[in-house]
Amino acid sequence: MDFLPPERKDIKRCLSCGGDVSGRMGKKFCSDQCRAQFHNQKKNKDERWIKGLNSLLRKNRTILKKLNPVGHSTVRTEVLKKSKFDFRFYTHRFQTAKGDIYYFCYEWGYQVLPEGRILIVNWQDYMKPLSNA
Ligand SMILES: [Zn+2]
Repeated sequence: MDFLPPERKDIKRCLSCGGDVSGRMGKKFCSDQCRAQFHNQKKNKDERWIKGLNSLLRKNRTILKKLNPVGHSTVRTEVLKKSKFDFRFYTHRFQTAKGDIYYFCYEWGYQVLPEGRILIVNWQDYMKPLSNA
């Protein structure tokens, strides 16, 4: 049976390569290269997440746009579902004075109507400029 020494708590491991980290307290990387690599990987992971979400939002936007060639259209919910519209993702909401809520994917939005219908709308100037949103 192999004897494995217990992990030494006083030796810190580089977060990037796992090598020994020596020097000042609180140091997390063995070298500047390891620090740079670690941060690049984290940044790439964040970017992938953002890109993935953006492409879902963009796809939703395209579906709404295709189904709404004029100012506003009403379609059945199944039409959006069949188009693989993903109701979980939208960029923002707008509430009308009446209390209706529009969910937008960029400048195309929808309101859920009774009886399985969806009203598709286009962003209007009166809904407030984006800078004040
Ligand atoms: Zn390292």
